[in-house]
Amino acid sequence: MKLPIFLDNHSTTPMDPRVLDTMLPYFVEKFGNAASRNHAFGWAAEEAVEQARKQIAKLIKADPKEIVFTSGATESDNLAIKGVLEMYKEKGDHIITSSTEHRAVLDTVKSLEGKGKAAVTYLPVDKFGMVNPEDVRKAITEKTILISIMLANNEIGTINPVKEIGKIAKEKGILFHCDATQGVGKIPVDVQDMGIDLMSFSAHKMYGPKGVGALYVRKKNPRVRIAAQMDGGGHERGMRSGTLPVPLIVGFGKACELCEQEMAKDTVRLIAMRDRLEASIMKALEESYLNGHPTNRLPGNLNISFAYVEGESLLMGMKDIALSSGSACTSATLEPSYVLRALGVGTELAHSSIRFGLGRFNQDDEIDYTIKKVIEIVTKLREMSPLYEMAKEGVDLKSVQWAAH
Ligand SMILES: *Cc1c(COP(=O)(O)O)cnc(C)c1O
Repeated sequence: MKLPIFLDNHSTTPMDPRVLDTMLPYFVEKFGNAASRNHAFGWAAEEAVEQARKQIAKLIKADPKEIVFTSGATESDNLAIKGVLEMYKEKGDHIITSSTEHRAVLDTVKSLEGKGKAAVTYLPVDKFGMVNPEDVRKAITEKTILISIMLANNEIGTINPVKEIGKIAKEKGILFHCDATQGVGKIPVDVQDMGIDLMSFSAHKMYGPKGVGALYVRKKNPRVRIAAQMDGGGHERGMRSGTLPVPLIVGFGKACELCEQEMAKDTVRLIAMRDRLEASIMKALEESYLNGHPTNRLPGNLNISFAYVEGESLLMGMKDIALSSGSACTSATLEPSYVLRALGVGTELAHSSIRFGLGRFNQDDEIDYTIKKVIEIVTKLREMSPLYEMAKEGVDLKSVQWAAH
């Protein structure tokens, strides 16, 4: 086993070596521009791009023509939301989204709202982080032109009832955009069955390269139109201009193919490791609380709050394990995770949360090491915590009069 251990697979994933192998010829030997229609270099590049488009479309049950390449899910989210708003502005300006979306969605709608271009409804989630489809239905007005709800959350892994939301969108004739970045390649995704009209996803969250992603744009029932946000050579059927990054796209295609072939196997392995990590930690440490849905969540996700322990201190004590915490000491605001707050998790427990993100390349010995280390560090930090000591002595912390600082 090698240190440090990478358990932050929601932030990015290591590239699968098989993906790199397929990419390599496209940097030097086969360097053509896929838009060069008049020579062999261009044809070879175009052929490779079209092959990747097929692999990607197959994974999500789409038609290859419905795939628009972007630089990643952030761009896909921007393109979907701004593109729909601009294209359908005659119809209305109301967007429905949820309070636990990724910032690529939330910041986009907030920016539009701030400029007076859109009216936005932010739906609440339940204590597990799930959107209620009936809330979506109730929020629809005559002016609603887009529903944007994520498939799986990047912090707590909770999977939304996307199919039910898609059904309501269809019934009401409203476009449905889904940020499926955490779900594609990890859980089955079928844009037909789920009634999705636009969908964002990204290669680097599924063992592909960073810097490439896609927006699925439905071609029929209905034919979705979006206004381009990048003008130029008219690539990607005019929806996203810019020379295609052929090596990245080839890698993205291969990553999708591998996910399709190995999803079932990966899922069984990940769930076994994740459940063992969860059970061992929670059994050994009292007052540790699971965040997110107990069963309906991504196979590789585990998010736990350890009462009386600062998430950041915990990370500091375990520098040889790459994890993420819901405590945002790196940001200027000191606000803990807005996702956990939206579930109703208190400020203290939100600051005490740790996200474990397991992936394809994690091994059992890494999980053993992590279990041991987490138990050791949480126990040590609690022993040093006066609050923990008081709580153990039966002092009701809520009754304590704190001195102002
Ligand atoms: C990572 C992520 C994004 C951003 O993707 P990039 O490709 O890094 O721009 C958007 N949404 C979700 C849910 C994510 O997890």
